[in-house]
Amino acid sequence: MRFTGKKQKKMIEQIRAAALNFLFPPKCILCSAFINTGQNRADIFRKPIPDSKNLAEVFTKLIQSYVCKNCISELKSVRHPICPVCGEMFQSRADEDHLCKRCIKTDRNFTKARAGGVYAGILKSLIHQLKYGKKITSAKPLSVFLFYSYLKFFKEKDFDYITPLPLHIKKAKKRGFNQSYFLVKYWGKTAKNFKIKIPEIRLNIIEKQKNTPPQAGLSADKREKNIKNSFAVKDAHKVYGKNFLIIDDVVTTGATINECAKVLKKAGAKRIDALSLARSIIL
Ligand SMILES: [Zn+2]
Ligand SMILES: [Zn+2]
Repeated sequence: MRFTGKKQKKMIEQIRAAALNFLFPPKCILCSAFINTGQNRADIFRKPIPDSKNLAEVFTKLIQSYVCKNCISELKSVRHPICPVCGEMFQSRADEDHLCKRCIKTDRNFTKARAGGVYAGILKSLIHQLKYGKKITSAKPLSVFLFYSYLKFFKEKDFDYITPLPLHIKKAKKRGFNQSYFLVKYWGKTAKNFKIKIPEIRLNIIEKQKNTPPQAGLSADKREKNIKNSFAVKDAHKVYGKNFLIIDDVVTTGATINECAKVLKKAGAKRIDALSLARSIIL
C-alpha cells in the first residue's frame, strides 16, 4: 500500500512540475532567455547518466534545464596534456602529460588535483553567480556535476574523508555560506539515488585561521605568500593515517590546496588529493 502511495505522490509531483513548466517556462539563470527542454529538473538527479565519463556531456545534461543552449555552448573542458600532479592544462596540445614547472620546483603535499572543467565561460559565470551574486539555484547541478567528476577521477574507496576547503569565519559570515560546502551538499543524496557508497563528508577537520585577502588577481608568488600558514587542523585525532579529498571551487596555482594539505600531512594524514569544480588556465 505504501509503495502505491509513493508512486502516486511521484506522479502528482511530475504533473505539477509539467504544469508549472507550461505556465511559467523556466528562464536561463545566466541570461534570462526562455528554456524549453521539457525536462523536469528533479528527474536528472534520480538516475545516473549513461556514459558518465564524458564530463562535457554530463554537464550539459545536468544544467540544460537551468541554462539556455547559447550559454551552455561556452563550456570548456579540461584537455590533455595536463600536469599529472596539479592538473594544470598546457597551452600546447602536442605533448604528453608531464610535470609543470611549479610541481617540479615546489614540494606538493597533495598527490593529485583534478577539475570538472575549465574556469572560463559558463563555469566561471556560474561560480561567480554562486559566490558573489548569492544566487544558489545552480548549487544542485554544480554539486552533482562535481560528484560525476569525483567518480571519473577517483576510486570510491580512495578516501576516508571528503572535506570542503574551509573559509575564515569572518568571510563565511559575510558571504552567508561556504561555496565549497555547497559543492558537496548533494553528494549524499545523489550517491544514495545511484546506489554508490561514498566516504564520509567532514566539514570541521580543518579551519582557516588567518583571514587572508582574496587570491584572485595575485601573481603565483604572491598567492603562495598570501595563503602561507593560514590553515590549522581542528580535529587532529581524525587525521592520523587517513586519506583525504579536499574540495574547492577553483584551483589556479594549487597554492591554497597545497597549504591545506600541508597541515593535514603534518598531523599524520597518509594521502591527500583535491578536486575542484574548475581549473584556471595559467597564462
Ligand atoms: Zn543563457
Ligand atoms: Zn603541476
